[in-house]
Amino acid sequence: MSRLGIKTLKDLLWHLPTRYENYSETIPISDIALDQKVNVQGEVVKITTKKLFPRLRQGFGGQARGMFITNAIVRDMSGAVKVVWFNQPFIENQLAEGTFVSLAGKVKTGKNGTYLSSPTYEKVRPTTDYRLPTTSLKHTKGLIPVYPETEGVTSKYLRFLIKPMLLNIRLNDPTPETILKKYNFPSLIDAVKNIHFPHSEDSAKIAKERLAFDDLMLFQIKALLERRKMNQLRSVPIPFNKELVKNFITGLPFELTKDQKVAAWEILKDLQKKYPMNRLMEGDVGSGKTVVALTAAYQTAKAEYQTVFMVPTEVLANQHFKTITSLVNDSSVKIGLLTASTSKINNENISKKIFKERLSSGEIDIIIGTHAILQKDVSLNRLALLVIDEQHRFGINQRAALVRGNNADLTQKDAEAARTSASGPHGSAYVPHLLSMTATPIPRTLALTIYGDLDISIIREKPKNRQKIITKIIGQNRRRSAYQFIREEVKKGKQVFVVCPRIEATQNNIEQTQNVAEKIPRSSAYVRRQSALALWQDVKAVEEEYKKLSQEVFPDLKVAMLHGKMPVRKGRGLASGGKISKEEIMERFRNGETDILVSTSVIEVGVDIPNATIMAVESAERFGLAQLHQFRGRVGRSEHQSYCLLFLSSGDKSVSQRLKALVACDDGFELAEKDMAIRGPGEFMGIKQSGMPDLAMASLANVELIKKARLEARLLLKEDPSLKKYPLLLGRLNDFQRFTHFE
Ligand code: ADP
Ligand code: MG
Repeated sequence: MSRLGIKTLKDLLWHLPTRYENYSETIPISDIALDQKVNVQGEVVKITTKKLFPRLRQGFGGQARGMFITNAIVRDMSGAVKVVWFNQPFIENQLAEGTFVSLAGKVKTGKNGTYLSSPTYEKVRPTTDYRLPTTSLKHTKGLIPVYPETEGVTSKYLRFLIKPMLLNIRLNDPTPETILKKYNFPSLIDAVKNIHFPHSEDSAKIAKERLAFDDLMLFQIKALLERRKMNQLRSVPIPFNKELVKNFITGLPFELTKDQKVAAWEILKDLQKKYPMNRLMEGDVGSGKTVVALTAAYQTAKAEYQTVFMVPTEVLANQHFKTITSLVNDSSVKIGLLTASTSKINNENISKKIFKERLSSGEIDIIIGTHAILQKDVSLNRLALLVIDEQHRFGINQRAALVRGNNADLTQKDAEAARTSASGPHGSAYVPHLLSMTATPIPRTLALTIYGDLDISIIREKPKNRQKIITKIIGQNRRRSAYQFIREEVKKGKQVFVVCPRIEATQNNIEQTQNVAEKIPRSSAYVRRQSALALWQDVKAVEEEYKKLSQEVFPDLKVAMLHGKMPVRKGRGLASGGKISKEEIMERFRNGETDILVSTSVIEVGVDIPNATIMAVESAERFGLAQLHQFRGRVGRSEHQSYCLLFLSSGDKSVSQRLKALVACDDGFELAEKDMAIRGPGEFMGIKQSGMPDLAMASLANVELIKKARLEARLLLKEDPSLKKYPLLLGRLNDFQRFTHFE
């Protein structure tokens, strides 16, 4: 039970069914038909158990173990049917001849005719009249709840525990009566009863909606309260210097799209405020988010404050550093790079020690780095703006640390204190403005729900010079001609990415045997072992693919590989052992010295190499839609026609809905909606981390319900800002926060 996260009676009550088996109607035995799932009721007129092949298994463990088969005949007014159970010899004792029984199961046929195969059974009052109403059946009649199970805890056992509980529970309803009336929601008790044992599909649906509403509303209240808290913190206001920004933008090598301008404007407006900006910039891959964030960073730098750009990988940090130094043509702005292996300012490599000194003196204006920046001894004296790129790549804990800003010294308590503190702009009491960026395009309503405490800027429009990427699915028979096509493109001077499949067979198996894995806190050792395993398998896949392409397929072209086991930089420590580094590989590819880069999915995030025009993905069917769209986003970053080739594994003949959707559509926002429809919102990238309860998650496609929840949350807080009048709601909010808090 504890494996399912069930410890108390209350947990049991909130262990909700995932679906229902429909045995609403009891039918006369004479009416049953093959392959139907039926409920029948009648008298056991004969029951026997046989042991099959007792000899066969003798010798295994020294014990004779055969298979038990129990045969029964059950009769009602209309006729009789044979019933068969396997390996449950005890049933013979439970359902002795003359017992009246209710059965739910599937009708099958064998060489001895039609029979009910291993039905669920419960005893009933003696009557063979199937028309008489039967009450209090848990397992065989009505809509039968099917629960998330684990070894030893079956749905049947859970029903056995839960049904009697529902008879005499008392629940205090935290949701105000007026709201329930307004939307015609059932009371909490009715909702709970009906979600476990509904009278009809409809009542199950209404119950679900009501309970999801509760969670959605709490989620909104939490977001609004967090936003309120944020608004009471203090940040450094950066005045909007229109002249400066205009000059910066006209100095760029391209014209900003309208969406980019709007987003930049929204951000610059936010920066003027005395309380921290908390904004999410959503934009499809290649929509040009970096330069928008840079505009804000530039203005911040000119106001003598610091900006940190946090990125998830070193490859990306290096790239951003390059782009940003090339776009900022202003020698008064100092730009630094800090990762585990590199520290430099503008073009000068310097030691970590000196870097940190210059950082804390406020000398470096824009700092680009990985989570190396989060180290305790890194202090940012004049930090005003924090930009988190590819924010979904950061874990919740990392994000919390980031938001705390001057992470070394600004804790939650300090932040509270900051409200009343009068310390100067260089003290730790100031919270940085936060801009997070993501290429996971989530429709606005949904984004507002999940990230209710954030403001949102959306970049939909792509830069003008882009052509639509041509996406093709390549089966085995077309592999050769695809290779030929790649060769021709390379001959024209273009470059190619090849992404190798992530081999996750082992991990998947583990997940499957624990389909409740989400609820089991995994030991960090487990996680470490799994990721080490995955890394090793990835490396193997890349090495094999590299060998194949460089020796057999393209011996005449320059092929390189990139994977996670390579040292990031050359000549540091023993680990590098003189091997070529990731940075060199990327550099050579960027300079056009190599034609084809074979890599793991590290290439997925952010990499920007405009001359690369082909993205080939091996075993494409193994990746999710969102990830494939990210891969594809690595090409089509210039005016050249680009291609995305989705190679299928040799065994894979069927083309999934996902891949078809990808071929048909190259708009991330549209794809996101399709992905949600295919997989359900819960699986959707990035949402799982939001800490939203399952039921609410399952309702995320229900825009109307979300709107209601948002409205009511706002009205409630307006009427009663501290929720004093609603102690139950406040109590649930606290429970809720414990689960979903970013700590
Ligand atoms: P993403 O939103 O995926 O992070 P980037 O910021 O990496 O995208 O930008 C992708 C590429 O497009 C970069 O090479 C960038 O310089 C370029 N770019 C950005 N904005 C424009 C624009 N308005 N017109 C043309 N190219 C642009
Ligand atoms: Mg980017």
